[in-house]
Amino acid sequence: MKKLADINKDFAQWYQDVIYEAELVDSSPVKGAMIIRPYGYSIWENMQKVVDQKIKATGTKNAYFPLLIPESFLKKEAEHVEGFSPELAVVTHAGGKKLEEPLVVRPTSETIIYAMFAKWIKSWRDLPLKINQWANVVRWELRPRAFLRTTEFLWQEGHTAHATKQEATDMALEARQLYKDFMQNYLAIPVIAAEKSASERFAGADHTYSLEALMLDGKALQMGTTHVLSHSFPKSFDIKFQDKDGKMKVPYCSSWGVSTRMIGGLIMSHGDQDGLIIPPKIAPIQVVIIPIYRKDDEKELVLNKVEELKKQLEKLDIKVFVDDDDQTTPGAKFYNWEIKGVPLRVELGPRDLKNNQIVVVDRLEKNKQMISFENIATEIPKILDDLQDKLFKRAEKRLMDSWYQGDKLKDFGSTLEKEAGLYQTGWCGSKECELKFKDYKATIRCVLDENKHSQCAVCDKKSEKDILVAKAY
Ligand SMILES: [Zn+2]
Repeated sequence: MKKLADINKDFAQWYQDVIYEAELVDSSPVKGAMIIRPYGYSIWENMQKVVDQKIKATGTKNAYFPLLIPESFLKKEAEHVEGFSPELAVVTHAGGKKLEEPLVVRPTSETIIYAMFAKWIKSWRDLPLKINQWANVVRWELRPRAFLRTTEFLWQEGHTAHATKQEATDMALEARQLYKDFMQNYLAIPVIAAEKSASERFAGADHTYSLEALMLDGKALQMGTTHVLSHSFPKSFDIKFQDKDGKMKVPYCSSWGVSTRMIGGLIMSHGDQDGLIIPPKIAPIQVVIIPIYRKDDEKELVLNKVEELKKQLEKLDIKVFVDDDDQTTPGAKFYNWEIKGVPLRVELGPRDLKNNQIVVVDRLEKNKQMISFENIATEIPKILDDLQDKLFKRAEKRLMDSWYQGDKLKDFGSTLEKEAGLYQTGWCGSKECELKFKDYKATIRCVLDENKHSQCAVCDKKSEKDILVAKAY
């Protein structure tokens, strides 16, 4: 077993150590891709389940579109192809010969889906059309990092068409709210919902809304985005509908997605020196039971009770795993399940049997408490709920404590570069001033609906809206 790097001194190495030691991923023979191991994948499956339900509740239906997209489709929308071309993987040969038209491995699916929307949308009665797909996408990464930036990643992408721009905007905002609920209530990660600056927008969008979170090292992470596409996008795919007034019109579109990047956010929001801490509502294993015995006659008694306990917890819809591996010491098991971030550990030995109790240790504060057999059904769910709550509150406090107000970039820039955190300040809206934040390795994370700062952080011009500036992943 490897000792994890010091979380306070070398956060990047700690992250790297944790994802391998907790068996979330393994390295891939293809640089930039990642192999998601069963434990890591089960976290993704839990995320999928909840997000999928929430998406369906908006009236969106799941479908599937091809991985390979004709290159000409991407070229139809100028801004879109310009934004994505450096990251594209292109298939030029197949079936033993050169293809007449190269095929692009999807970096996102607007283009192929819009080609179908053009077929499926005829009248105002066909609107809104709301489609979602769960898929993998490929965007070539020069500086990959597991979960955060990988050449191939898993996600869902929602694509909708509406009669008016207002409806498309409402959809993009509804999707953002859906993501926010999920991130805060399930992942226990507080997020800031706001809009991106023009230069950080999705290629081909009029508006990009995002959810930003603050990681343990003070850097921001974009957890998800939703977009209102420019009207030229559906136009270039010739999507048209006959409106109620009999006129032919072009619909307005939204798209939105969250990806396996959220796993990276989860790790960097809740971990500690001993490894991951997974919020109970998303944990693949919520309770691990470790039977403790020395002699063979103890073994049977203990294991019988453990089995009974497991069944009792499963009846309460709690995800339980019994670690009854004979070859590993309890101490080594504790260490292993701590790295994996299992919310609760239950120990049960001969002495506990005699006292009619179990020993429960929570992953966050490592408090040890004795719970008598008759109180298990009420106590365990309560401890899990409390833990979920504590994780959110802890992360929320950290976010508020690292949210600073800054007037002039020259005054707060070097502190931001050195210590990270979020800086709320003013901005005139110009591209030149936006670029200045890069001098301190920071970017505008989002534009807020607030106006506390009357002047731009860089020039002397008036600020219309506040922005949040931070170093980011
Ligand atoms: Zn300015």
